Amino acid sequence: MSSQQGLLDRLKQGETIICGNGYKTELERRGFTNIHGFTSRVVTEFPTQVRQLHEEFVHCGSDVVVACNSHGENLGGDKDSGSEESSGAHQSLKIAMDVANRTGTLMAGRVDATGLEYGKATIKRMEKLLTSQIKMVTDEKADFILGGMFKDTREAKLALECIKKHGKGLPCVMTLSIEGKGKTTDDVDVPEALRDLEELGADVVGLACTRGPTTMMPLMREARKLCKGPLAVIPAAYRTSQKEEWIQLLTDPLSGSSLYPPDLDQAQCNRKDIQIFAEETKSLGIQFVGLCCGAHPSFIREIADIYEKSTPASKFNLNLKFCNIYMDHRNSPTRAKRRMFQLTWEYNKRMAIAKKSDK
Ligand SMILES: [Zn+2]
Repeated sequence: MSSQQGLLDRLKQGETIICGNGYKTELERRGFTNIHGFTSRVVTEFPTQVRQLHEEFVHCGSDVVVACNSHGENLGGDKDSGSEESSGAHQSLKIAMDVANRTGTLMAGRVDATGLEYGKATIKRMEKLLTSQIKMVTDEKADFILGGMFKDTREAKLALECIKKHGKGLPCVMTLSIEGKGKTTDDVDVPEALRDLEELGADVVGLACTRGPTTMMPLMREARKLCKGPLAVIPAAYRTSQKEEWIQLLTDPLSGSSLYPPDLDQAQCNRKDIQIFAEETKSLGIQFVGLCCGAHPSFIREIADIYEKSTPASKFNLNLKFCNIYMDHRNSPTRAKRRMFQLTWEYNKRMAIAKKSDK
């Protein structure tokens, strides 16, 4: 456990916790894994790069170091403890804890959906896989559990039950990932599903991944009306829309071909999108705010900026006072006008060339 004040106390005091996540897409973009790889494997091969990314998120304002223990033992079945994935997952928790201790942040250990379809035949196996993840997280003394990738409320409830039984009292942030039209795969409306998890004892409930901010926030607005406690929102940093509600549906507007997964960069949010998202989470009083797939550290800095949290990276926030034009203006209004004119002229020229080549 890191030496910080605990998650629940901080939430009780009204603090908003910022959470940088989305390690797989960012590590893939940097060339250290493939898009369907396990992040726990990256840890065994490239521990320095994982540590570096943790530190970058913290540098930009993340209050949490999320361990890359995701999908180590669960998806894909019968991995015995001691397997390559399992040792990677343990190592990832140790690295995350080390960074959290050194940077004064909280360490979250992940407990993810198993990838099995919920049913009589799979419950026992599911329980075993969930419990083994929980045990790993408690063994490495995480500050709290971040439950994720649950699409089926029955599995999420089972996970919560296992956390209550084996989680040694660790606080728990339970999130669902929603693909269908605002419903879980077992056909429960999101607000009701989150309220049920809250009533079953999850400390924080919310949504994570799969949807971008634009299609996640309407669900969160509805959840806010029903849930009483703190909410979490950790969207993928991609521009999903009413037509393409989750990231697997995103297409290239020119060719119509699917962007998922290797070309999602094309649909990545820009910083303005992230600012708008953070403004909205702030106005809704959501207290656990982060980004998942597609996030990079500078997006976390945008969120921290909206929440007026000072971070080591804050000094690099955009300040128009120091843009060339304004600098010129400060020194000489005539030079400022001239610079404006020059920029406008260059822009018009570029547009004229572009129009010509379109014909
Ligand atoms: Zn994600």
